[in-house]
Amino acid sequence: MKKYKIVLLSGDGIGPEISEVSKKVIKKLSKNHNFDIEIIEELFGGIAYEKYGSPAPDKTLDQCKKSDAVLLACVGDIKYDSLARELRPESGLLKLRSALNLFANIRPVKIRKSLLDASTLKKEIVEHVDLIVVRELIGGIYFGKPRGHITDTKIPKAFNTMVYDSAEIERITEIAIKIANQRNKKICSVDKSNVLEVSQLWRDTVLNITSKDKNISLSNMYVDNAAMQLVRDPGQFDVILTSNLFGDILSDLAAMLTGSIGMLPSASLNNDGPGVFEPVHGSAPDIAGKNIANPIAMLLSASMMLKIGLNEEEAAENLETAIDKVLSKGFRTADLADRSSEVLSCSEIGDKIMDEI
Ligand code: NAD
Repeated sequence: MKKYKIVLLSGDGIGPEISEVSKKVIKKLSKNHNFDIEIIEELFGGIAYEKYGSPAPDKTLDQCKKSDAVLLACVGDIKYDSLARELRPESGLLKLRSALNLFANIRPVKIRKSLLDASTLKKEIVEHVDLIVVRELIGGIYFGKPRGHITDTKIPKAFNTMVYDSAEIERITEIAIKIANQRNKKICSVDKSNVLEVSQLWRDTVLNITSKDKNISLSNMYVDNAAMQLVRDPGQFDVILTSNLFGDILSDLAAMLTGSIGMLPSASLNNDGPGVFEPVHGSAPDIAGKNIANPIAMLLSASMMLKIGLNEEEAAENLETAIDKVLSKGFRTADLADRSSEVLSCSEIGDKIMDEI
């Protein structure tokens, strides 16, 4: 029997609620598909800061490094916003990404037929949406140096640096090519090369690498136009390749095409070693503790973990089919509900999905 060791980071806010559902589902899938999975739970985010004074304690990072995959819920809360930047939960995310060298973030955005009405856009605009955002995750402006505050001026100033070298752009482009080759072979690279030197290097490097694969059709788009096109005609996109900052913004925009941020999974990967699989959403402090969060983004992240991280493709498909069946029967969490749906709590929709596995 195959054996896996995964680390579960429940984090903050709605994290523990959606993690509880995920744990049960993964255990059931492992029984049904004959593999053994050890789930090691570690503290991460605000809760880790409370106990260890760090949002990403060494013990947590060590366990993650030794695992086959990491399943992360979400971190953050307004009460940590006044902490020094390196102590905030969100800094823990950056530390984890750096520690595991997770340079590629993959965010699939696919409209599920049963949820066509949940989108804020018209049905005919979103019905053919099936795209993947490939975002560079450990470079660019979030990590660039120098950065900081200048206080010895008349008025306060602050600055950050958006920097990439061509090797960083090459390796993320190669990931995008790999993914595009499994799909429609179309890559749209998003940048701001009309204004930024770093984007010009991005554009030149992407062109150089993609031109070596004759199957790939490459287009380029400025980020402002890409934001507009994602709302005007999102069905035109197959693989969107972009940098850390632009990918952060565009993938949340793309998230809303599906109706709720509670439906979107992601995977953060490197070329070897464990990946981190996590929902796109944050810790939703406004609904935390009420058992009303949508656990599906985390379950779809678990499905990506099974498929990409553990090579348990059948279990992943079983889970996705179970989710589709529950949605097509009209069961919804509050974030997705319309007049015709039956609104269930986080744990209740989890139980319905368990029944379909
Ligand atoms: P958020 O994603 O937490 O919430 C945005 C809105 O979406 C809220 O109205 C929330 O209730 C709703 N929502 C999110 N997930 C949901 C779900 N599963 N089911 C139903 N509704 C859901 O974003 P925010 O409010 O900007 O940030 C809250 C905290 O989360 C902040 O501290 C932020 O820094 C942090 N954050 C963490 C991550 C992460 O852990 N990867 C990502 C984004 C934000």
